[in-house]
Amino acid sequence: MSKTTKAVAKKQVKTKASTKKGTAKKSISTSYVYAFGKKTDGNATMRDLLGGKGANLAEMASIGLPVPPGFTISTEVCGYYYDNGKTYPASLSKSILKAIKQIETQLGKSFGGRSNPLLVSVRSGARDSMPGMMDTILNLGLNDVTVEGLAEISGNPRFAWDCYRRFIQMYGDVVMGVQARSEEEEDPFHEILEKMKRKLKVETDSDLSTENLKALVDQYKALIRKRTRSAFPQDVFEQLWGATSAVFSSWRNERAILYRQQYAIPAEWGTAVNIQAMVFGNAGDDSATGVAFTRDPANGEKVFYGEYLINAQGEDVVAGVRTPNAIAKLADELPQSYRDLEKVRNKLEKHFKDMQDFEFTIEGGRLFILQTRNGKRTGLAAVRIAVEMQRERLMSQETALLKIPAESIDSLLVPVFDPKALKAAPIIGKGLPAGPGAATGRIAFTAATAEAETRKGNKVVLCRNETSPDDLKGMLHSQGILTSRGGVSSHAALVARQLGKVCICGASEVVINYEKKTLTAGKVVLKEGDYISIDGSTGLIYKGMIESADSEVKRVLEGGLKANKSYTYELFQTVMSWADKHRTLNVRTNADTPAMAKQAVAFGAEGIGLCRTEHMFFDGERIDIMRQMILAADEVQRRSALKKLLPFQKKDFVGLFKAMEGRPVTIRLLDPPLHEFLPHDDVVRRQLAEKLGVPFDFVIDRIKALHEENPMLGCRGCRLGIIYPEITEMQARALFEAAAQVSKGKKAIKIKAEIMIPLVGFRAELADQLAIVHRVAAEVMKKHKVKIDYLVGTMIEVPRAAITADEIAHEADFFSFGTNDLTQTTLGLSRDDMGLFYDQYQSKEIYNQNPFASLDQTGVGKLVELAVERGRQTKPNIKLGICGEHAGDPMSIDFCHRTGLNYVSCSPPRVPIARLAAAQARLRNK
Ligand code: PEP
Ligand code: MG
Repeated sequence: MSKTTKAVAKKQVKTKASTKKGTAKKSISTSYVYAFGKKTDGNATMRDLLGGKGANLAEMASIGLPVPPGFTISTEVCGYYYDNGKTYPASLSKSILKAIKQIETQLGKSFGGRSNPLLVSVRSGARDSMPGMMDTILNLGLNDVTVEGLAEISGNPRFAWDCYRRFIQMYGDVVMGVQARSEEEEDPFHEILEKMKRKLKVETDSDLSTENLKALVDQYKALIRKRTRSAFPQDVFEQLWGATSAVFSSWRNERAILYRQQYAIPAEWGTAVNIQAMVFGNAGDDSATGVAFTRDPANGEKVFYGEYLINAQGEDVVAGVRTPNAIAKLADELPQSYRDLEKVRNKLEKHFKDMQDFEFTIEGGRLFILQTRNGKRTGLAAVRIAVEMQRERLMSQETALLKIPAESIDSLLVPVFDPKALKAAPIIGKGLPAGPGAATGRIAFTAATAEAETRKGNKVVLCRNETSPDDLKGMLHSQGILTSRGGVSSHAALVARQLGKVCICGASEVVINYEKKTLTAGKVVLKEGDYISIDGSTGLIYKGMIESADSEVKRVLEGGLKANKSYTYELFQTVMSWADKHRTLNVRTNADTPAMAKQAVAFGAEGIGLCRTEHMFFDGERIDIMRQMILAADEVQRRSALKKLLPFQKKDFVGLFKAMEGRPVTIRLLDPPLHEFLPHDDVVRRQLAEKLGVPFDFVIDRIKALHEENPMLGCRGCRLGIIYPEITEMQARALFEAAAQVSKGKKAIKIKAEIMIPLVGFRAELADQLAIVHRVAAEVMKKHKVKIDYLVGTMIEVPRAAITADEIAHEADFFSFGTNDLTQTTLGLSRDDMGLFYDQYQSKEIYNQNPFASLDQTGVGKLVELAVERGRQTKPNIKLGICGEHAGDPMSIDFCHRTGLNYVSCSPPRVPIARLAAAQARLRNK
């Protein structure tokens, strides 16, 4: 390395570091730079400090794999960089100079030197890999002088100039910001390259001669000067600092932020920067570059999977400029390298004990490994790889369980789109992924249309601005539900999940016009009856029809396929049986009908943790009797309507008890505001008036009287049962009558009923309702001469209930945390109205996660912990569960385990996920 370049580098860093001297907010360790190569400082366990890439490069170097030497600048420097106005710790420059020196010595090359120049790559590397989200610069160290040196030493001027033009392009784009200025504009470097190819009438980049590449370099430099008013830097240390800062800065680019949100990666982690000697896959026909997976990442099969290009550099493979070959072909083209690669494949799996995704370069027949990481994989592949690696003794059962992201289980259960068809389908919008799976059908804007269309044999997707109880039937008849408003715990979302329906909600760019019967998404206007497809796992909305099919596991569980005919089912069963062995949390389900309950039991539910009784009133004849009850002018009329409702409720409860075959069943008393049951449009209101023999105006007046500005905080929950005790009485009677019926006779079922009172905030509220329940229970047991095993408890879903849990526990046999309402009331944030600001909150990283999907552990979680502690102070053995939507979310389940709850209760399709997440929580927190 030349003395002048060293001096420039030192000076530059000194000024940067000294501007902020003494203002560092955090104290960090003194070592910022970790070498790998002949001398290696780090290892695979140091991911927090070195990032995944840096830690694995160090590990590979230390087990003797052919890794080009280099060094890692730690993630702590990233933290410093952002905390200190994008400057660096003062000692960093010295450490970097030393590390560069070490590479120079190992390779006999010189950074910035003419005779045998050292070129390096500069790459990001976070703790968890974030493929493609941050920036990379290759061939750094080239300038007008070193390019000549590279030309001489390689004996291949074309190769040297090709590297140089690639470097200027990358550096210009990533570091100097010379990019397309609008979506319509082409990348300016690409434009120059294409123009030259057109002029020379050549097809590919490799057809360009040395002279052409030299001309290209001049044109690229001119472009940079024109756009940035500064020259492309010739000083290699200036290049190095520029690239390092660009990589650190890319931690906060839009893509990276989005990716972190998706995968819950904290912003504080930061990225490391890896600087590594370049090896050249573009040095001739005995050179190549490629990416390989030790197993198939799409389906998990144990086959060598990957692709490569002869005479190319890494970015050519990913950029799709040339079509790469399948890895098997390398056995013909470079047989020795292929054999070397196979050896590396085996060694990597045996050492890292997981499927690896690795990058390699062959330079002049010599193989180098540039990085390895645990390969990203589909849900199905995650399950298959874990099970098979356990069978191959590469990992223990515990590790295998921890390796499967709990959500992956879902991909074995939901209908899926045909991947090929999906690629070709036009995306027209995006919403919140609320119910996973794939649904295709004709657009129906009303529940009635949905029903009519399905009766004709058509599949439909119900598209609504938002859903109301009136829509339930329509939802039942639909393949999926799309709403333009509402969040992931909105009515649409939770009903959809319970029913196992595909659902996207809060698609705020989608405009639904009921009058014109159109759905507009950007420029696309669809009419009722047109085909639409929604992917509830990604939130993407597509125009047209896409083929999908039921999962094999579901077909086995429903009896449509023999278990031994499905390897996917075998994988599912294996993982579930392991999970059950390791978990201590019980898993129950939120189910309102016998069909849902049966599905949940097939998925492994151990009880019902929430039956929302109001859902039992939506259907058919009952909704009218319910409406009669609501419209009643006095208690006598109300009781008469309730009397008619009782047999329906009783029948439903009998069905539920039978479906659950002696498992505990938690029945929650009526919760929603009554006006939700009344029709919204005048035509249906008029029909109702006629049906009930009351004047239309009377219906209108009652609806007005019941109207609330803020129904979520109004007359709902236990408040209903307190002002209309006859409702609680009817529900309790129906329940105990049902229990009495099924606990007698030949096929008697042992009943474990748990009656749950919603939205309690005061001990007195619970006491009021309890008195009714106990009185009715005593009356029914006496009448039928049976003893029914029952508990009475409450939901904890308002902050006051959590804070006074010690008082409330005097009355309650159990608590169930209703974290949908508890989140709503703690955050002061409507469950249904977050669409307007949620996107902005996400991009500003104010919420790491949607608080209605994953429990806000530091806020709402504190209230849960407090209630657990205070509840147990009063009643050490009080039973504790959770039935909000969070009960199906793996991170929240981990919290529930740590907090000492007895069970989680989630929608039926999420039961397998919850079983796995509960086992993982136990293993993680042992
Ligand atoms: C809750 O609030 O978490 C809950 C389960 O009740 P619901 O969603 O019916 O209000
Ligand atoms: Mg609630």
